[in-house]
Amino acid sequence: MIPYVLVVEDEDALATLLQYNLDKEGYSVSVASDGEEALIQINEKLPDLIVLDWMLPKVSGIEVCRRLRSRADTRNVPIVMLTARGEETDRIRGLDTGADDYVVKPFSMTELTARIRAVLRRIRPGLAEDRTHQGDLIIDRVAHRVKRDGREIHLGPTEFRLLDYFMQHPGRVFSREQLLDAVWGSDVYVEARTVDVHVGRLRKALNLETKADPIRTVRSAGYALDMDA
Ligand code: CA
Repeated sequence: MIPYVLVVEDEDALATLLQYNLDKEGYSVSVASDGEEALIQINEKLPDLIVLDWMLPKVSGIEVCRRLRSRADTRNVPIVMLTARGEETDRIRGLDTGADDYVVKPFSMTELTARIRAVLRRIRPGLAEDRTHQGDLIIDRVAHRVKRDGREIHLGPTEFRLLDYFMQHPGRVFSREQLLDAVWGSDVYVEARTVDVHVGRLRKALNLETKADPIRTVRSAGYALDMDA
């Protein structure tokens, strides 16, 4: 699963540079150039992490942060603040803004990407780690291998991404549309039925004779991964 990062930055050159470098680091990146646009984009698709500039037109970075922290669905989204030296740095340093970390401009891309990785590792371990366990399932994102109960499971690329996504959110039910967005991407046209086909293949691959089916079908809602079922 590729972590989705929203960059909120009004300086075009910096936004482009951030997008380029985060894309190169393997993140899926989107850019918003002011606070209002950021809130709209966040409502459309929840980011795995937000890089948020402090000084923004329309709605400031601090206000965006405050609003996200007051909403149940966005309360836990990791935020890395960008600030110019001297811009209320003391307040940010105390992180009473609700940000998870901050970087002072000018910063190097190496520094920012290291902070992003550290925040993701701390808050969303499933996203940042190379290997994840759920019950008797192990997914290795670097080697691109899956094992269940010690046995190698062979998956196609779509089934691998599906399983990866399920393993980051065990027990949670996803609709076909949510899975399409997360695994295929929102700009790809795929029919909802395609999800059923790939979940079917994933289920078939995972279900060793003696093992319980880890994928739960929730009638008219979608699918979930339940390793203790
Ligand atoms: Ca700015």
